[in-house]
Amino acid sequence: MECLKCFNDMFIDYVEFNVQREDYNLELKRIPVYVCLECKETYIEEDEMTKIFDTVNELDKNINNIKQKKL
Ligand SMILES: [Zn+2]
Repeated sequence: MECLKCFNDMFIDYVEFNVQREDYNLELKRIPVYVCLECKETYIEEDEMTKIFDTVNELDKNINNIKQKKL
C-alpha cells in the first residue's frame, strides 16, 4: 500500500477508533489502519469502515428499541 499523499510505503498499525453518539460513546480498539511513516497519514480500508458503520447502525437500532420500551 502506497501513501496517497507522499507515495511512501504504508504500514499496518492498530489504533483506537471513537464513535460519539447522542446515547453512547463507542471506543473500538485495535482497528487495523495503514499508516505512512513519512507524513503520518492514516488510511482505513473501505471494508473496515463499512464494518464499523454496520456495527454502529446495529447499535443505534438496538438502543432505539431499548428506549422504546414501555414501563
Ligand atoms: Zn505519506
